[in-house]
Amino acid sequence: MYPPKFDYYRADSVQSALDLIKEHDGKFLAGGHSLIPVMNLRLADPGTLIDIGRIPNIKGIDKHGNAVNIGALTTHTMVAASGELPTAVSEAASMIGDPQVRNRGTLGGNVAHADPASDMPTVLLALRAQFTIAGANGERIVDADDFFVDLFETALQEGELLVRVSVPVEGPHTGSAYAKLHNPASRYAMVGAAATVTINGGKFREVGVAVGGLTPKATRASAVEAALAGQDATAETIAAAAAAVADDLGDEVMGDIHASEAYRRQMAPVFVRRALETAVSRAS
Ligand SMILES: Cc1cc2nc3c(=O)[nH]c(=O)nc-3n(C[C@H](O)[C@H](O)[C@H](O)COP(=O)(O)OP(=O)(O)OC[C@H]3O[C@@H](n4cnc5c(N)ncnc54)[C@H](O)[C@@H]3O)c2cc1C
Repeated sequence: MYPPKFDYYRADSVQSALDLIKEHDGKFLAGGHSLIPVMNLRLADPGTLIDIGRIPNIKGIDKHGNAVNIGALTTHTMVAASGELPTAVSEAASMIGDPQVRNRGTLGGNVAHADPASDMPTVLLALRAQFTIAGANGERIVDADDFFVDLFETALQEGELLVRVSVPVEGPHTGSAYAKLHNPASRYAMVGAAATVTINGGKFREVGVAVGGLTPKATRASAVEAALAGQDATAETIAAAAAAVADDLGDEVMGDIHASEAYRRQMAPVFVRRALETAVSRAS
């Protein structure tokens, strides 16, 4: 399949990307592993592509104080191989697609596309990541809870470029994990669950839990978090809290030929429990 015709420009800096998109409209092209397929399927016809793939300073992972910054152009392979990120982030990246997808696809493209079956939105929501966005009026920072707006929709406004995502450094007594039921062909999440926990004196202190693949956008599992807060970190508490995810899903659970709505609802607490159990074992 071939995409519709498009004009092509290459940006060599964040500023030139912003200038080019303002001048020509169109869309940014990063790894192309979501945008080109939707163009091939004629679901998008942007007319102009601004290639941001070679902008030098927004690729890579570096630690600053209590945060680890991931440049928007950092590939899934780089995220998977990093020893500096919370375990759940690298774990989720290592489960994306296949080696070709992980070598070309970028963190920025993954979250900007906001496919409900993507892995990274779920993990970044659980970890309360922050998103730095560049636009005509400079930079602004958006919290994960506000970044993912709806199906394929984020807080990014027309002409804005995501430059980096920041996650907290994984401190002592803290562990995180990502567990997913994947589509056997594409490996996209049919159910994805991410958890980060801090345990002190045998009790849950800080907790972050999110699920993906179920609803139009990655969803914070607030009922699960509330059921864990201050409780003993035992298998019984985890199992009971994981069941509370049903309250977080509401009536918007999706179903398709790969997994029905009913099946996804059944699997959600199973994968939340698995992510929590692994996070707890890593925290200790
Ligand atoms: C066969 C296959 C299997 C896959 N399996 C999985 C999977 O298991 N899990 C998973 O999570 N994903 C999966 N993916 C998707 C993959 O992770 C994509 O690489 C990713 O979603 C998009 O990243 P990209 O760099 O390719 O973005 P692109 O395709 O280049 O861009 C996607 C969208 O984001 C916009 N964009 C890109 N970068 C920026 C930026 N910095 N600022 C603002 N807007 C931007 C573009 O304009 C476009 O609208 C799969 C893809 C394929 C083809």
